[in-house]
Amino acid sequence: MTIIVEGNQIIDVKAGYQPPAEDDQLIDLRNSTLMPGLMDMHTHLSSQQGPGSYMERFTLNEADYALKGVYFAKKTLDAGFTTVRNLGDGYNETVALRNAINNGLVPGPRIYTAAKSIATTGGHADPTNGRSKALMGDPGPNDGVINGETEARQAVRQRYKDGADLIKITATGGVLSVAKSGQNPQFMQDELNAIVATAKDYGMKVAVHAHGKEGMKRAILAGVDSIEHGTYMDKEVISLMKKHGTYYVPTVMAGEWVAQKAKIDGFFPALVRPKAAAIGPLIQETFSRAYKAGVKIAFGTDSGVSAHGDNGREFALMVEAGMPAIEAIRSATFHGAELLGVSEQLGTVEKGKLADLVAVAGDPLTDIGMMSNIQFVMKDGEVIKHL
Ligand SMILES: [Zn+2]
Repeated sequence: MTIIVEGNQIIDVKAGYQPPAEDDQLIDLRNSTLMPGLMDMHTHLSSQQGPGSYMERFTLNEADYALKGVYFAKKTLDAGFTTVRNLGDGYNETVALRNAINNGLVPGPRIYTAAKSIATTGGHADPTNGRSKALMGDPGPNDGVINGETEARQAVRQRYKDGADLIKITATGGVLSVAKSGQNPQFMQDELNAIVATAKDYGMKVAVHAHGKEGMKRAILAGVDSIEHGTYMDKEVISLMKKHGTYYVPTVMAGEWVAQKAKIDGFFPALVRPKAAAIGPLIQETFSRAYKAGVKIAFGTDSGVSAHGDNGREFALMVEAGMPAIEAIRSATFHGAELLGVSEQLGTVEKGKLADLVAVAGDPLTDIGMMSNIQFVMKDGEVIKHL
């Protein structure tokens, strides 16, 4: 095939090798497999977990996170991910990062950011969990902490005002927050309904962190767009997701990472370690069941838990769990675009779409590990990398 790119667009796709015109630039990828730019529906570009992570919230400022974001955005783009969702930051720094990338100031993927996640008091994304009372303050809707329908609406509208593209909520407990439960439901139905209805009014989709069943059920019934992690989903949740067309973003890599780190003494705070050991090993099996049952799957890694730039490993974990390689690749292209609502511009290699293209040296359908070794990256018609 020959892909003809002009400016930032694919203007034609032709069978066979088409010799270039005189002033065309030829990029020869004959021994490679070319694919649409990869899309990761769950990243946190402005941070990365390590042994010292829990201290960072006491020592780092907004600019520190913003600059980390610049560094990790480049790593992500070099790994072939030309589009990501950023599902939660600290200070809306990924809104600034998105704008800087869109304005050509720094290299990085197209970012669709939720800015600061929304939680309830003490919930998974309450930014003051685990702090001393003197440092805790009283976070409210602007900080992403809500109680009741009125504050739920206020928090969504604030994110719109802050420049977020979508809404992220933490509907159940989670692994890495310094809090006891990794799976309890944390929003009431009226709060979830208010968030989804308000987000729809403002043209924003809703992504939902959830491990426990009850929190997932409530969120799906409220009409959210995606469930992230989904660890304890059972047959009832799976059939609800199919009925409502809810996407599942598995983040198997995050499960693998926390399960490994839970084995290291002192890596996690005492409240976190047992949650990591219990939840981490389950996600791959959950993904396997959900895929086989026919739930819509969009690729997501939760990178920032595992290291940025390693995103491609998720493909191998998906294939290991029973998904055919071609489906895993489509989850990170076609389905990512569908979840974002940008299928007209992205997600396939077609005439009229944006020129986001990646290539690997060989056939990823026979060796999915190749997805961790991207040879060529083009974003918006610009060659970012060509090994
Ligand atoms: Zn996450």
